[in-house]
Amino acid sequence: MQTFDTPVVDNHLHLDPDHGRGLEAVKDFARSGGTHLLVVNKPSWLLGHDVETGEDFRPVFETTIDVVREASELLDGTAWPVLGVHPGLVSKLVDDRGYDPAGARDLMCAGLDVAAEYVRAGDALALKSGRPHYDVTDAVWDASNAVLRHGLDLAADCDCALQLHTESTTDLSDVAEWADERDVPRERVVKHYAQGHLTGGTPSVMSDKDRLEEAAERGVPFLMETDFVDDPNRPGAVMGPKTVPRRVDWLLDEGHDTAVRNAHVETPALVYDIDTESTLDR
Ligand SMILES: [Zn+2]
Repeated sequence: MQTFDTPVVDNHLHLDPDHGRGLEAVKDFARSGGTHLLVVNKPSWLLGHDVETGEDFRPVFETTIDVVREASELLDGTAWPVLGVHPGLVSKLVDDRGYDPAGARDLMCAGLDVAAEYVRAGDALALKSGRPHYDVTDAVWDASNAVLRHGLDLAADCDCALQLHTESTTDLSDVAEWADERDVPRERVVKHYAQGHLTGGTPSVMSDKDRLEEAAERGVPFLMETDFVDDPNRPGAVMGPKTVPRRVDWLLDEGHDTAVRNAHVETPALVYDIDTESTLDR
């Protein structure tokens, strides 16, 4: 059982208690020194839900809220749900299910509306939206950006952060301008699966050494994540749940104590208004 003198936060992973490792993954994280988790709901289609209305997202969100409650009991710190609609859903709807882009947009916005209800009720910490990371038609791209902007509207209304899944880029200036227009602080726009630096938001940096080294040396706000997908069909597809604690160990060995405090105390407070130190009960 490893422990550190700091909270250790994985800012983006998934837990699938029915098909994946679920709480066993949380135990691995905790045993390695991890203390806090932001758990993002899995894409609706991976949980076998063919959504047709916003309400149809509710069981997807409830699955995450339930497993997060159990995960919190296994941690010295806390787990929080992050709820939203995966941007890849637009292609499932348009390519496989006969929606036009506007219809897909409306359904995805309705799903985000339901996610926001949980944030308002205090049952989720933040929202999740984005746009495809692969080439799409202009109509699908425009519809996706409309969904993303709706996510920003809701983040403003709920006074919460918005995690984004986007194309691979280090420049989200367009999104940052949309955030400005809605008085959403730019730092509350979090790019998941990020490189070590980002213009226009807070990078949630994938925990490989090269990216972390860059983020650590820049000295600006960043978070750390694995995007563990907890999918038995893709065992090697992503980093495992022990990765963030192991990389914290490595950063501390390298003398990056300030960066560890940045990613695990200061940036979580700045972005999510959470206190990862006072929520530790060891
Ligand atoms: Zn993810």
